[in-house]
Amino acid sequence: MKERVEVMLTAEQIDKRLEELAEELYQEFGDEQVEMVCTLKGAVVVTTDLAKKMKMPVTLNFMSVSSYGDSTESSGNINVKMDLDEDISGKNVLIVEDIIDTGRTLKKLKELLLFRKPKKLKIVALLDKPDRRVVDITGDFTGFTIPDAFVVGYGLDYAQRYRNLPYVGVLNFDEE
Ligand code: 5GP
Repeated sequence: MKERVEVMLTAEQIDKRLEELAEELYQEFGDEQVEMVCTLKGAVVVTTDLAKKMKMPVTLNFMSVSSYGDSTESSGNINVKMDLDEDISGKNVLIVEDIIDTGRTLKKLKELLLFRKPKKLKIVALLDKPDRRVVDITGDFTGFTIPDAFVVGYGLDYAQRYRNLPYVGVLNFDEE
């Protein structure tokens, strides 16, 4: 099988949308400091690009929660592999997600972080696949709502590859 990536969102479209999201986030948080929580590894690219457009003071922190292995189907088994290295109680927290699919990862993460008593907890996701949702959760801020397809690029991987693509594309498997 030969892998082929079909462009869905160009680098320019993503950049423009992030500009708008930064504005929406400014409406939400104003000049208050925001702790951006990047969910490794997929959200690394959107986190850093979005952080550069944020107008208020921001800090960056990282968490790793497991979801997909090397396959394109979710295991439903989620555990925290790496935790934040700072206390978030009383802080404005913004979870940055690459994509919301079934929603299982995010629901678990949200519950966990709310338990630590942040002042405010909001979620921004670059992509949302609402057709795939199995638990009741939505992002507060969404970049793009997309159809049910397996996408790669702009942080998203297939077997750890394609994260460095500057665009988001659908991964197809062609007969050789
Ligand atoms: P959920 O718990 O919402 O099912 O899964 C969310 C995680 O699964 C995302 O953070 C991402 O790592 C992975 N994921 C979900 N859909 C896709 C997709 O279309 N492409 C890739 N590469 N990863 C996905």
